[in-house]
Amino acid sequence: MTVDTNGFLHHDLLAHITQEEAVLSFSLDGPAPEVNDPIRGEGVFATCTGNLKKAVALGFTTSVIYTVSRLNLTHLRRMPTLLAELGVRRFFIQVIGLRGKSAGKAGDPLQLTPEEWLTEVPPVAAEAARLGLEVIFPKVFLEAGEPFECAGKVAENFFIFPNGRVYRCPLCEDFPIHALRIENNRLLANDGLTEERFFSLSIPEGCVMNKLLQPGNLRYHADGSPSYRISCCLLKQRLEPAG
Ligand code: SF4
Repeated sequence: MTVDTNGFLHHDLLAHITQEEAVLSFSLDGPAPEVNDPIRGEGVFATCTGNLKKAVALGFTTSVIYTVSRLNLTHLRRMPTLLAELGVRRFFIQVIGLRGKSAGKAGDPLQLTPEEWLTEVPPVAAEAARLGLEVIFPKVFLEAGEPFECAGKVAENFFIFPNGRVYRCPLCEDFPIHALRIENNRLLANDGLTEERFFSLSIPEGCVMNKLLQPGNLRYHADGSPSYRISCCLLKQRLEPAG
């Protein structure tokens, strides 16, 4: 069980979970208050790291999620040392703008270029693994020859919303094209133009929803062919802790 603490540890929560059954997850978007707090809120760094230390001292396995954008990209490299010192076991690196509310904001100034992502993120992930953390981070940019697979076709993921909408692809969640719905406690398939129609489209840019919703992160050669393909946003890489 993973409990997303949002940085807070409440006595009632701790009374209901044990160290054996729960991983406590915290979100930090910077290695210091000057970086984290303008993004996550005043005082959040101190609260979050204080509760993290408490959770580690109580014997809980902890994980930290860092959402990378232009605002904090260059500070990511300071995270492995901080997390190792805090006793964090898992490090999730996310990229802003590849799902959800960012959809449609092509050219978003927060989004990273492929060069920024590839220069900064994989080395930091490797360093965190070297320091003993398990690291999970999205693939994002496929290398030449790497296979592309759409999770909508090859996996069974369901993203369920309180309004009864059920999506197969998280990129679609701001649009009423959900493939399924929950009605009277039953999971029903929707007719018409739903996200599933898009999954089988084969395009040279890789993920078709990325091309439709976030074309700002694509680039093309002079002959019109894409410079790279975007992987499925659900494809993650995992590095095991060294040693
Ligand atoms: S993110 Fe792209 S590749 Fe992944 S499920 Fe959605 S449409 Fe398919």
